[in-house]
Amino acid sequence: MIFENAIVITMDPERRVIMEGAVAVEGKLIAAVGKSEEIAANFPEKRRIDCRGNILMPGLIDAHLHTSQALLRGCADDVDLIDFLIKRVWVLMGNYTEADGRASAELALLEMIKSGTTGFIECMLAERYGFDGVAEAILSSGVRAAIGKIVMDRPSYAGEEFVMHFGMIEDGDTSIRNTLSAYDRWNGAGEGRIQVWFGPRTPGGVSPELYDRIGRLARERDMGITVHLCEVKEDLEYAASQGFRSPVEFAEVHGLLGPRTVLGHAVWTDPEDWKILARTGTSVSHNPASNSHLASGIAPVAGMLAAGVNVAMGCDAATCDNTYDMVRDLREVSHLAKIREEDPLVVPAETVLEMATLHGARAMGIEDEVGSIEAGKRADFIVINLDAPHLTPVWDPVSTVVYAAVGSDVDTVVADGVILMEGRKVLTMDEEAILSDARRRAREIEKRAGLSIGTRWPVV
Ligand SMILES: [Zn+2]
Repeated sequence: MIFENAIVITMDPERRVIMEGAVAVEGKLIAAVGKSEEIAANFPEKRRIDCRGNILMPGLIDAHLHTSQALLRGCADDVDLIDFLIKRVWVLMGNYTEADGRASAELALLEMIKSGTTGFIECMLAERYGFDGVAEAILSSGVRAAIGKIVMDRPSYAGEEFVMHFGMIEDGDTSIRNTLSAYDRWNGAGEGRIQVWFGPRTPGGVSPELYDRIGRLARERDMGITVHLCEVKEDLEYAASQGFRSPVEFAEVHGLLGPRTVLGHAVWTDPEDWKILARTGTSVSHNPASNSHLASGIAPVAGMLAAGVNVAMGCDAATCDNTYDMVRDLREVSHLAKIREEDPLVVPAETVLEMATLHGARAMGIEDEVGSIEAGKRADFIVINLDAPHLTPVWDPVSTVVYAAVGSDVDTVVADGVILMEGRKVLTMDEEAILSDARRRAREIEKRAGLSIGTRWPVV
């Protein structure tokens, strides 16, 4: 196939933007990138898809999300963290069946494809959501993923008063054993599209001894680790109670940091921490909308980037971002950084797009395969339809994507050389069935949990 007549934002080492550009795809790979004329001349026998002057760019990579919470979209808005977790999210999740876990993942995957995300890191897949069902859903959707299986041996979070719902509690030995058996079954599936990682809970939810074990096992197998760290201020108190200057120092001593590790959030970090993250090659997923929604704080993105930390970005979950639409969240990355530093020059559009593509690929450990439009890389890219008032006119295509576009502007999605969506029709999933199943399951979970959630205004 040739995708021609596009504004190609390549994200290649020179960051070329090719006007009247084209991308030739052969099997799973990008065969060539260049001007439409020369690509058409060099590949005369290929099927040609006219991009009609729209933007073609790498698929986005969400470095921190919870597929399980798609069914809980909007269930706990405008409440404090205690109510959020203890009265809503954990109670509902503790009442999931494995079929609910799969349905939630399908809903999240559908939304990802419809908003241009072609790869993601699932940060904490609990036992009760059913690993195999979720992995099967990812495999058939065509998206690539690193699935972090939850590991835990303590029911608390950032202090003893936060205790999980009994339906969510797992023990250390079982959660380790099940992660390793999921790794044996699924790691490398879909010709490398699926990775299985450790997704241990935040310090406080995992004993230091269990972290040591996770670090050891991950290094033996070259497995990834993803862990929420420094999301809330209370994490600092936990680290101090263990005798550490910061949670990052705690994580390093317990073997969690390194080039195969992605920390979710890293809001409450300082220049000393950034040095450690840069030295160890640890990645961070910045989750701007989640941090804003939960008032967790503003992550020091500009500082981390300047210190050489690989900062990617993520949507986190539909409970605290209400969307898995990366395009919608792009500008929040820039806006929060500008507010924090009181400087309109920091974290410009170009940097945001690097975080959402190249840095995400590096966080997943697949920077040689995806993240940019270059010959020899996997064909993971999206086409954004510019034929809309909010995207007209285009002065700078990078600015247009970051500051003006939303996920529903994505028209076509290709991953591993397969068209997952064309003309906004998803070809790998049954959209209608997934939506009606999700609506029904949400009501059933609410009922099983004994909750009644709705508008705070009078319902007549
Ligand atoms: Zn999270």
